[in-house]
Amino acid sequence: MNLIILGPQGSGKGTQARLLADSLGLFYFESGDFLREVAKKDPRVDEIINKNGQLLGDDEVFTLASKFLDEKLPDRENFILDGYPRSVPQYNFLKEWLGEKGKKLNWAIYLTLTEKESMRRITARRICEKCGRVYNLITNPPLTQSSCECGGRLVQRPDDTPDVVKKRLESYKKITSPLVEVLAKEGILLTINGEAPIDTILKETISKIT
Ligand code: AMP
Repeated sequence: MNLIILGPQGSGKGTQARLLADSLGLFYFESGDFLREVAKKDPRVDEIINKNGQLLGDDEVFTLASKFLDEKLPDRENFILDGYPRSVPQYNFLKEWLGEKGKKLNWAIYLTLTEKESMRRITARRICEKCGRVYNLITNPPLTQSSCECGGRLVQRPDDTPDVVKKRLESYKKITSPLVEVLAKEGILLTINGEAPIDTILKETISKIT
């Protein structure tokens, strides 16, 4: 099964994508994490994605992601992509890439969330500097406000501050909303309320796609 998952920042797509990957035995790819690794070695990418909260160019993301995915997924199947595609051109690249091996996308899972809730959730996200564990001060709080169970310090991602989140939400509206319309027209969009409990979302998704 070939899946993509999309939704505004904070809609819980990372959580659902991991759970779906475990339940259905799929390879999980998260474009944000992947590009943050690229940014560690490339100050230009760091400036665009971490400091400015802008999207990296469609061609560049596809070139980087497809090279990585070709190594991990030579058959181009049994995956869930989280954060890619984020625009109509990125989706067209993906379809072409799958088509080269006679494959296609089965479902696009779309988690909905209001802008206000998105801002509230994302600015409350904290990450452990040492082990990378992700907490949320509202929905998944750590035992103490400033440290992880492993003892590491909890920090905010540079692009999770209110100013940068605002820019990320604007680009989501402008660039990703048209993709949602295309996916709906193609009949592969599965819309799910991202404000429901984690278990409810997972069960509803699995019952509809399997
Ligand atoms: P995320 O963790 O999914 O919010 O991604 C973090 C940042 O990485 C985004 O704000 C973008 O700057 C960049 N990024 C992730 N995925 C993509 C993509 N598919 N296209 C362009 N930029 C992306």
